[in-house]
Amino acid sequence: MTEEIMPGLYRIPVPLEGNPLKELNAYLIRGKRSILIDTGFRRPSCRLALSQGLKELGIRMGEVDVLLTHLHSDHSGLAPEAAEKGVIYISQTDRPALEDMAYRELYWNRMDSRFRQEGFPRELMAKMRNTNPAYSMAPPEGGRYESLKEGDVLEAGDYRLECLLMPGHTPGQMCFWIREAGVMFTGDHVLFDITPNITSWINMPDALGAYLESLERIRTYPASLSLPGHRKGGDLHKRVEELLSHHRKRLEEAFENVKSQPGSGAYQLAGRMKWKIRANSWEEFPVAQKWFAVGECMSHLDHLIAQGKIERRILRGRAAYFPKG
Ligand SMILES: [Zn+2]
Repeated sequence: MTEEIMPGLYRIPVPLEGNPLKELNAYLIRGKRSILIDTGFRRPSCRLALSQGLKELGIRMGEVDVLLTHLHSDHSGLAPEAAEKGVIYISQTDRPALEDMAYRELYWNRMDSRFRQEGFPRELMAKMRNTNPAYSMAPPEGGRYESLKEGDVLEAGDYRLECLLMPGHTPGQMCFWIREAGVMFTGDHVLFDITPNITSWINMPDALGAYLESLERIRTYPASLSLPGHRKGGDLHKRVEELLSHHRKRLEEAFENVKSQPGSGAYQLAGRMKWKIRANSWEEFPVAQKWFAVGECMSHLDHLIAQGKIERRILRGRAAYFPKG
């Protein structure tokens, strides 16, 4: 199952059962200290796939350094186990969400309040807390973290990885660039046959705006091989173009919805957007998909606010969006 992509650089597929992303790509770069890029959820099936993949390469769980593209638990869940004797590198921005349990709890509580304010039903919120892998399969407390910032360079085997901060998908999403080989690890910043989820973040007022800027930035790199966080890679420049056009259309759609239903919150507005999900109606969406849809809708509304096209008011404790002017 493990495949060699280039000399000393391997892909280990880690299945994500029941998740629309299907599998996570963990990458291993063999070296004096091998570096593992991303890990999978903290759950038995991922642990098994990862440890077997490493074993095929003659490497044991616990004996690598881990390099995380971003904080999401499908990437970071097994990091403390995989790097039991090593360190976990992650951007300075995403680090506290993994390392600091009090911060994590506070953060989730604040996000929950925002979703409630946008009209997300209370009973669904409770269900979400119990089933969301972001809570239950995140890394446990512990692990030795090291911060990365824009421009840092990591030596990994025969390769040099340049760390590029590409905020948007998460506030501290990073891509790693091997200049001499033209290889870009895109994390979840650019995915090829699915659209990366963009949501609202407490510590990033206009996540979509940041994301669009990061897309403009990554297209300036002459990458000949893209290694994404999920599924297969492809032509980076063509894909960036598609993602930019996707979000332009989404922004128009969100703006039209605010104009036709002024005073609605994001929950209601998300129900009016088009989604690639097999469900008869918005009411029948699985709760996790609803959560992502509302988050995505919020990020588009936040960006329309930043563009000065709409405004957000709080009426009787509820968010209400109105076109401006
Ligand atoms: Zn992600």
